[in-house]
Amino acid sequence: MFGPHADFLQHTLATADDAVTPEFSVLSAGTEVTLLDCGVLRVEPNTACDTSLVISCAVHGNETAPIELVRDMVRDILDEEQKAGQRVLFVMGNPWSMNIARRFTDVNMNRLFAGDWQQYDTSLKEVKRAAKLEAYVANFFAEEPVTVKQRFHYDLHTAIRASKRERFGIYPFVEGRQLPDNQKAFLARADIDAVLLQQQEANTFSSFSSLRYGAESFTLELGSVKPFGENDLSRYRGIDFALRELIAGEPLPEQPKRPVTEFEVCHTIDVTSDQWEFFIPDDALNFTEYAPGTLIWRDGSQEYRVGTEPEYIVFPNPKVPVGERAGLMLKART
Ligand SMILES: [Zn+2]
Repeated sequence: MFGPHADFLQHTLATADDAVTPEFSVLSAGTEVTLLDCGVLRVEPNTACDTSLVISCAVHGNETAPIELVRDMVRDILDEEQKAGQRVLFVMGNPWSMNIARRFTDVNMNRLFAGDWQQYDTSLKEVKRAAKLEAYVANFFAEEPVTVKQRFHYDLHTAIRASKRERFGIYPFVEGRQLPDNQKAFLARADIDAVLLQQQEANTFSSFSSLRYGAESFTLELGSVKPFGENDLSRYRGIDFALRELIAGEPLPEQPKRPVTEFEVCHTIDVTSDQWEFFIPDDALNFTEYAPGTLIWRDGSQEYRVGTEPEYIVFPNPKVPVGERAGLMLKART
């Protein structure tokens, strides 16, 4: 399947700039595995299945732990040590940034989806790649057998910034939808105990599959950025187990076995002028809690203080230009 390359990861790294000819193979159980392109591989069982599952990683190329998990899942499917009971599309998003151990080369790919790549220079590799990945996902859903009743997409990431909560999910906004209990059960099974509910449509890979194809999708932040080979994959056992159960065809539990706290944005922190002052330390961890009344920012006579309940910061980054977002304040849903 991978020619002279040891595995899916090595093949993806080596063929970033090549035109990859699709490779097809049928496993003894009848499962069809097709390498569609560099970093894009489809698995189709020959038994009736009810789920289309997209598992993506490396939309940010230096977020290596999930890439290693995906490499091993694909290896185990090909070795027939992992049962393939559902159709799965595996994606390694950004092979060029994987090769240079950077988040991206020219453009942050996770701002290019839901068609937003069209607003960029389409000669850039990442812009072309986002368009292609959208097409692969579209085809994957379009080719579903009639037995398929649900679409899931888990886009796997790790964070640059440390977090009070090691793992959390981000649930894309789609008008009128609620986070279902069985997806909370998936998160709990994956050892993820927090989920941030977005309140606006976004241009991430997971927003794309939610908005365009009605998938239950998440961006999952699973740990911290480390070079290839330096990850302690035992810290990722939960997500590995939860995904492998789904791939095997196990149904999701109806209810989460552990609580999953839902957070929503209560304030978007924008840098409003050159005089704008920020009172959160530069090294604040994601999900650091601030007590009611804490001053967060001030700009002349304008300021923001935490309201009557505790609030939590995520993605603080005050070093952005005036007019841009410097972080989000969250509150827990009760
Ligand atoms: Zn990421």
